[in-house]
Amino acid sequence: MAKPETTQHHTVVVIGAGAAGTSVAASLLRQRPGLDVAIVEPSDVHYYQPAFTLVGGGAYSLAKTARPQAETLPDNARWVRAAVTELQPDTNTLLLSDGRKLAYDILVVTPGLKLNWDGVEGLRDAIGRNGVCSNYDPAMAEYTWQCLKAFQGGKALFTQPPAPIKCAGAPQKIAYLAADYVRKKGLSGSSELKFYAAGGALFSVPDFVPPLTQVAKRHNVGLLMNHNLVAVDGKNKVATFRFTNSAGEVSEVKENFDFLHVTPPQCAPDFIRNSALANAEGWVEVDQHSMQHVRYDNVFSLGDASSLPTSKTAAAVRKQSPVAAANILARLSGRGLDASYDGYTSCPVVTGYGTVMLAEFIYGGKVTPTLPLSPFKESRFYWHVKKRVLPPFYFDYMLKGKEGDIAHKAID
Ligand code: FAD
Repeated sequence: MAKPETTQHHTVVVIGAGAAGTSVAASLLRQRPGLDVAIVEPSDVHYYQPAFTLVGGGAYSLAKTARPQAETLPDNARWVRAAVTELQPDTNTLLLSDGRKLAYDILVVTPGLKLNWDGVEGLRDAIGRNGVCSNYDPAMAEYTWQCLKAFQGGKALFTQPPAPIKCAGAPQKIAYLAADYVRKKGLSGSSELKFYAAGGALFSVPDFVPPLTQVAKRHNVGLLMNHNLVAVDGKNKVATFRFTNSAGEVSEVKENFDFLHVTPPQCAPDFIRNSALANAEGWVEVDQHSMQHVRYDNVFSLGDASSLPTSKTAAAVRKQSPVAAANILARLSGRGLDASYDGYTSCPVVTGYGTVMLAEFIYGGKVTPTLPLSPFKESRFYWHVKKRVLPPFYFDYMLKGKEGDIAHKAID
């Protein structure tokens, strides 16, 4: 006789204990300590991903980006150590990689996004060897630094895939750090640095394009837009791009390299793309202000996996999490959802060793700095904020569900 299926029920089930899942769960439990919250998370390490850029540039240790998951999860949440494999929103249930089934009253979908290493021919095989590196994987970020130290002049390429990606500034940041490093080593004369982006603009917010173009110019980094990396031959050190010209004609461009930093294409995780929660692009389809699902009113999503039309960053999650938590508690008590997210996100664009241009903006690309400093100027202060203030702020404040904040304001 078949064994009867046992289904464990929790009031709130959170999928993924990254920046978003952990901070929302912590916020819910700070406000309602007795709430029955389960977090499904397969990994036993929590990484502070925003510092991966600095690891790749040799300015931060990988060890400092990692904490045991058991330390970062809220004490009074139940940790379900498995991966979600299937969503069943019509029955308020989901399936886990170990065969178990969970049921919920409220579902919070925060598994981040999928790095699609197979989206570029040859990349999976090439990465981590022959000067092909990426800051997007913690297992790889230290190799970027090894490659940079080993670089003796020649051609260094940096790629950015089609949007959306997490931290849209990260592909540029490593290019500027590399350029600064090459200059300090006295290799500028014998080096050629090129930044290849699949999209048509250097940055999604037009106001930041001129100052960032100046940064690239100062560093002598060539900017090639509308070039999408489609293949990497690591052994022969050749990168292939698909170039689309202004008339829409497509051609193939091949480029030799000595150093290649790849930002892989990114997409929604498969179990979301294949579910009724997904929009046409695969992301969890939520209202952009309340973060409530547009068809399933007991489902919420934020962070990289969500359809929120803003830049995917931990900084965005910091502002999304209190709003999502407030709306989840309102939904549990049968009240209206009053809390609203304005699309705030920020990207500390590292422009060299010791300088950062802090791009902060909301929906519609409106620039909204938090501090009264020019957002378009490179700043030493923001370098220290990125390197020394934000990591402890993330682990000890944001992930703990603490929410006091300085308001951001639109500039005139
Ligand atoms: P994540 O933090 O990625 O967490 C997702 C979690 O879900 C993970 O723990 C994962 O194990 C888990 N998970 C995945 N699949 C499943 C499943 N099937 N079942 C259960 N759990 C699952 N942001 C900034 O604010 N500033 C920066 O300067 C910055 N720089 C960055 C540089 C790099 C190189 C990278 C890679 C990222 C950077 N970011 C930056 C982006 C930032 O790290 C992400 O936007 C943020 O972590 C998103 O949070 P999240 O919770 O949505 O996803």
